[in-house]
Amino acid sequence: GRGDACTTHCPTCPPDTPPETPRFQCMDCMIPDLFCQDFCVHAHSRNPLDGIERWDATKFKRTSLKDMGLRVQLGHRHGEVCEMSITAHKKFLVIYTNGIHNVAVDFCGCVDESIVGLRRQQLLRRLWYPATHEEPQTCTTFRALELFHVMTLQGKVTTYDFYTGLEKLTTKSGLVKVKDWYKAFMRTMRQWRHLVMLKRGGRGNDGDHLVAETKPGELAVVCPACPQPGVNLPANWETASGEERFLYILYIAIDTCFRLKRRLVSSEKKDPGFGTGWSYFTEDPPFQKYLLSVTDQKEMSTCISLAALDYANTKFSRGYGSTGVGLGVCARHEFVQRNGAADLQRGERNEIRLDLILKLVTFVIPKLHIYGHKLLCQLNFSLNFTPRATRTDGEGIECPWANIGPVATSTREMGPGSRHDTLDDHWGHWNWEKLTGLGALLKKCMLCAIPERNFQRGSLATFTENQAEHVGEWMTMVQVFEADNTRPNPYELPKSGATESDLRLKFVQEEAADEAGGRLPIHNVSPSVFVIAGLDLEEQGHRIKVAVAAHKGESSKHSVSIIEKCTKLSRYLARFRKVQAVYIPGALQALADVPVVQGVGTLVENILLFLPSALSRELRASGCNTISI
Ligand SMILES: [Zn+2]
Ligand SMILES: [Zn+2]
Ligand SMILES: [Zn+2]
Ligand SMILES: [Zn+2]
Repeated sequence: GRGDACTTHCPTCPPDTPPETPRFQCMDCMIPDLFCQDFCVHAHSRNPLDGIERWDATKFKRTSLKDMGLRVQLGHRHGEVCEMSITAHKKFLVIYTNGIHNVAVDFCGCVDESIVGLRRQQLLRRLWYPATHEEPQTCTTFRALELFHVMTLQGKVTTYDFYTGLEKLTTKSGLVKVKDWYKAFMRTMRQWRHLVMLKRGGRGNDGDHLVAETKPGELAVVCPACPQPGVNLPANWETASGEERFLYILYIAIDTCFRLKRRLVSSEKKDPGFGTGWSYFTEDPPFQKYLLSVTDQKEMSTCISLAALDYANTKFSRGYGSTGVGLGVCARHEFVQRNGAADLQRGERNEIRLDLILKLVTFVIPKLHIYGHKLLCQLNFSLNFTPRATRTDGEGIECPWANIGPVATSTREMGPGSRHDTLDDHWGHWNWEKLTGLGALLKKCMLCAIPERNFQRGSLATFTENQAEHVGEWMTMVQVFEADNTRPNPYELPKSGATESDLRLKFVQEEAADEAGGRLPIHNVSPSVFVIAGLDLEEQGHRIKVAVAAHKGESSKHSVSIIEKCTKLSRYLARFRKVQAVYIPGALQALADVPVVQGVGTLVENILLFLPSALSRELRASGCNTISI
């Protein structure tokens, strides 16, 4: 309600003015009272976009300063009225952070246009951005554009949601329809993004080269920590000794994201990018030319982990102008590289070709992803085995993907140019965030790395000492391999013969053959199942021993869990012994020979199983039965 506001006279008017019930309040100004219409209009000559409400006997109702008689004079000092003023369109509209406003605007029509400026300039000088440049009828304030820009970069708010939100702020109930200026807002925002990027790149008014002469990648925020000759490298970096060369390695992680598709809407002709190629996306014309030169390719790789690439070639790509984005980031600091993003195309043109001097490039697979690859990939492309790779994990690309993911739904429906501009803008923000956080992050990493490095060095020294007789030979193997990776890989485990499942298969086949030949097993548990059960028991015993040692003197929780495991093992053991009596009577004999240690009260994990391998040669020969004759 009206609260304690005065009902008889306007507290802001001089005492000699005729009494009038003050009925207006401003939602944006901090004025404690209600006031009269004249004062309200006068007080808002500098704030023509404030939200005003009028008391209509029972409730406050939204009204507008335009309806109350406020006019905005452009091109003159505050309070001046232009004698030659030109009235703007009667439905002139301004989009502001608190809603959408109808405003009565007067342009200055004074003679010298070079002084007063064009209409769009008159608006821009009041920080109102016109949606069209000839006869502006709609504007968005710089504040509203800034607000949306931050909201979309930080929270991935879409243009549609933001604009609809402003409509709701304007009409509250949503029952009154505001004329739809969404397209105008969208267009303005796109220009704004572009201009802000140019401004931040120091382009536009540098008096040096025109905006159109912006060079590829010039607007990208680049990583200050990665090596850049002429920027942060010493003059003699190319001749640095082997020990120091790791300082000058650039780690680039390349990955593709199939969520960042684009439907086949609009075209490059209808919707060209404002600055495609100036920051993160590759330049359009050279990239299109390159795509035409790439021949169809079906066989991507024999490694199943690369099946994702084949996914792009399936029917799921139908109806899409682009099937995703390929991106390169610096793997250690996660900066999107300048011109490091490219559209994946329909069909088979997804090869990422690196026209590089291959001798200088080492290919590796990130440390987590590598476990999804086959063994050969794990051996040949491991960062752990790459000389001077330090402790890089190469997984840095996943973070920018996670950040850009929420944008995918809206960019999917955009034309090619809007999509490029939008994604470039988000990556610019991502890189900026990385840049401002880099100092603190690197310090944190270093403080973490020093004690770890010391610990690992200590372990290596101890190991080297204990294995002194092998170290020389091992070192040579590693050095030979590092110098020439076609030589035997010392990290490759030698083939250790048949696996457990190979042997199981062999035994089962033998047993089947025996039964087919009429030789039946002497127990309904077959010999192979019995042996496997024995091995299993042995392993469980070891596990309990390890657990007991690890949790010595700890809480009762661990003791309970260990006792439970022991009880279970005892039960298995009892069943095992019954079958053992049939297959290995010799074991019972051996068991009888063992002193009291194996009697009642022996911890279950210490009990000797006497599997055939644990028996003496003679006992094994005489004390094992397999099949009935
Ligand atoms: Zn008054
Ligand atoms: Zn106000
Ligand atoms: Zn004028
Ligand atoms: Zn970097």
